[in-house]
Amino acid sequence: RSKRRGRGGITVYSEEIANEMKRATQIEQALRRAIIADDVEVHFQPIVDLSNERVLGFEALARWYDNELGTVPPAVFIPLAEERAFIEPLTELLLRKAARAALTWPKDIFLSFNLSSAQLMDPSTAFGILAIVDRVGFDPRRLELEITETAMMSDPETARGILEELRAAGARISLDDFGTGQSSLGRLRDFDFDKVKIDRAFVSEIAWNRPSEHIIRAILTMCEGLDLGVVAEGIEEADQSGKLVKLGCAQGQGYYYGRPMSAEQAYKLVCSGRGKREPDTLDA
Ligand code: C2E
Ligand code: MG
Ligand code: MG
Ligand code: MG
Repeated sequence: RSKRRGRGGITVYSEEIANEMKRATQIEQALRRAIIADDVEVHFQPIVDLSNERVLGFEALARWYDNELGTVPPAVFIPLAEERAFIEPLTELLLRKAARAALTWPKDIFLSFNLSSAQLMDPSTAFGILAIVDRVGFDPRRLELEITETAMMSDPETARGILEELRAAGARISLDDFGTGQSSLGRLRDFDFDKVKIDRAFVSEIAWNRPSEHIIRAILTMCEGLDLGVVAEGIEEADQSGKLVKLGCAQGQGYYYGRPMSAEQAYKLVCSGRGKREPDTLDA
């Protein structure tokens, strides 16, 4: 009987893999169609000055709804587009839509855009990004690119070249999800960043977890010494925001200040005095 169980196990296992691959291919086909139809959207989450809650910029976040698949999160479809080599047309669509929306904002409000790991291994990425914003007529000096340490590490030399080209055009580079992944403080010395985004993992615990508080304190001190900007990610509660203000953190982002919202909502927010946070939108 153990033999039968074993064989059954193997069958179930390979069936699972086959199903997963089938689903990935289904997502791939639907996403490729969506890209051609220009049917992937970009939402915008405010990044605020913590001292007065004013909006300083927005992070662009990809959103895709498919009639059959429903809402597919970017954490699923971005890696898939990378693996299956169509991150380029997807990025073209996302950055074009994001930059077009950003054109309507006051000139001092920046746009932050995420770069993925495959893009940091492709030497043509900087040229591609700059060509897209140029076509839209968006000033690259209003552009920030978010990258993660993990994404950079597959090919650090290519990544360095890309970041240098982008900075030469006036764009800024943020280190996303800082403190998680393959963190190495040496990275802050060896690469030119403009800003560090402290990962939500520390921020969410700041009000009650002493180690997290000390880690954030240390990051803030270090960034001040290195002349780096700082954003605290994932602020969900007043307690967290209050604590971060007390510690002297300059910028923040999170559901407490605003969920990712449509281009129209972002436009309304910045043009209506761009003051305090607005009621949460439906986007989760
Ligand atoms: P990320 O760049 O670290 O983006 C922050 C994620 O945290 C977003 O999830 C955002 O919706 C979520 N978030 C923001 N504030 C809060 C909060 O207060 N609490 C909680 N629990 N979550 C919060 P999202 O939109 O699902 O994106 C996930 C990841 O997918 C992003 O992480 C980014 O790595 C990637 N991604 C999203 N859009 C793009 C894109 O256009 N291009 C690329 N390459 N990657 C993207
Ligand atoms: Mg990001
Ligand atoms: Mg992040
Ligand atoms: Mg993250």
